[in-house]
Amino acid sequence: MEKINQIYVNGEFITPHGTETFDLISPVTNQKTGEVVLGDETDTKLAIAAAKEAFKSFRKTTVAERVTYLEHLHEAVSKKEEELVKIMVSEYGGTLKFSKASVKNAIDSFTNMIEVLKTFEFQRIVGKSKVRLESLGVVGIITPWNASNSFICNKFATAIAAGCTVVVKPSEMSAAQTQLLLHCFHEAGLPKGVFNLVNGLGNVVGAEITRNPDVAKISFTGSTLTGKIIAKGAIDTMKRVTLELGGKSPNLILDDADLEKAIPAAVFGAYMNSGQACIAPTRLLVPENKLEEVNALAKAAAALVQVGNPMNEQTHVGPMVSIKQYERVQDYIRTGMEEGATLLAGGTGKPDGLQDGNFVKATIFTNVRNDMRIAREEIFGPVLSIITYKTEEEAIAIANDTTYGLSAYISSTDLSHANRVAEQLEAGRVVINEFKHDPLAPFGGFKQSGIGREFGVYGLETYLETKAILD
Ligand code: ADP
Repeated sequence: MEKINQIYVNGEFITPHGTETFDLISPVTNQKTGEVVLGDETDTKLAIAAAKEAFKSFRKTTVAERVTYLEHLHEAVSKKEEELVKIMVSEYGGTLKFSKASVKNAIDSFTNMIEVLKTFEFQRIVGKSKVRLESLGVVGIITPWNASNSFICNKFATAIAAGCTVVVKPSEMSAAQTQLLLHCFHEAGLPKGVFNLVNGLGNVVGAEITRNPDVAKISFTGSTLTGKIIAKGAIDTMKRVTLELGGKSPNLILDDADLEKAIPAAVFGAYMNSGQACIAPTRLLVPENKLEEVNALAKAAAALVQVGNPMNEQTHVGPMVSIKQYERVQDYIRTGMEEGATLLAGGTGKPDGLQDGNFVKATIFTNVRNDMRIAREEIFGPVLSIITYKTEEEAIAIANDTTYGLSAYISSTDLSHANRVAEQLEAGRVVINEFKHDPLAPFGGFKQSGIGREFGVYGLETYLETKAILD
């Protein structure tokens, strides 16, 4: 039984002042695997004070020095790649394939930022003035459980590139993954206080980070509900915020799409990260006159989806992270049935032989209307809704008829056609054919999917404050 009883403050592993504990539960067996001691406000204040002190000198580092730190971090995290994958699978229940990709993204965060620094201009001439982009200060990083280390690495790498110091509060459900990452960061040998981490609850540690006047910015990934609480709290001290929140992403199958390819891809895509992904394409918009064909293809694809132990190479969908999350998804499946959508695959209950863990059947609803709750609310599980449209204009209107705007997806055999549609979608990222990732392109949401952008140049700019010097 693992007991995680250390936080990281001012370059050292220390015992937290907080004494409450939180049980770590395997999503595959629902057995307790360990516990984490939760930090409190005192711990958080200590970490913020260390970051504040470290910022005094870290802000003065040169770009070359920051590149060296990023190289050290890259090396230290790379060394533990396999262990990081293993622990992500066992603690979180992410599939092996997804966990490998996620850890790779985490490692690449550091080299991506080195790439950005090669050409980034911290000083520019605008009008007749000198414009300096200066390090913002102490950044509070608050992250969820669905790709924990990848979020931490990306935000931390950007902070280092910007000359900022950080206090991280990960999800309490990710404590074992965090602990391993912490050891990597420690080994990288950064100046004391540049990186600090406090395990703890959102309404304790997260709330202190949100209200503390010595924190200049919060970079948050998580639910829209929590994002709003943080944004409201942050305004009292006028903190900058970057919020990467929920989504209900449309996947537009245009009338010229190759359905045999696009529909299976759409089904598997909706189940990315076992459906626990803010960017998951969960609303599949298809031409009405092709619904029968789409249903047949989608049903056949769902039959190929393997739900099961995330350790197995062949598994596509692992367990939900917690019983709470399992119940939430079950509620939505029941809601879909009550709302009158047609169940095409899956349904309530656990798949055969998987009674112990938080496993959900790979589920597809068809004949979904865009005003149903299953089409409007983020489910965060393997549940896909098929919605029909009559004209392309209507397809675009349905795609945009959502409070969210994180991602959108288009399938078409005509790239210029797809691009014309992409320009009309209200989403921070539009992905055409295949599920691609570009770590240097900006990432973030329109509307209630968030504020600001992460990654690359756009991400870096949000960790900097702009000063014009008129001489
Ligand atoms: P989930 O409930 O699925 O974990 P959240 O968006 O609530 O999703 O959590 C994302 C992160 O935000 C977690 O680290 C969580 O502890 C933290 N959090 C939750 N509530 C608050 C809050 N009131 N203030 C700051 N952080 C919070």
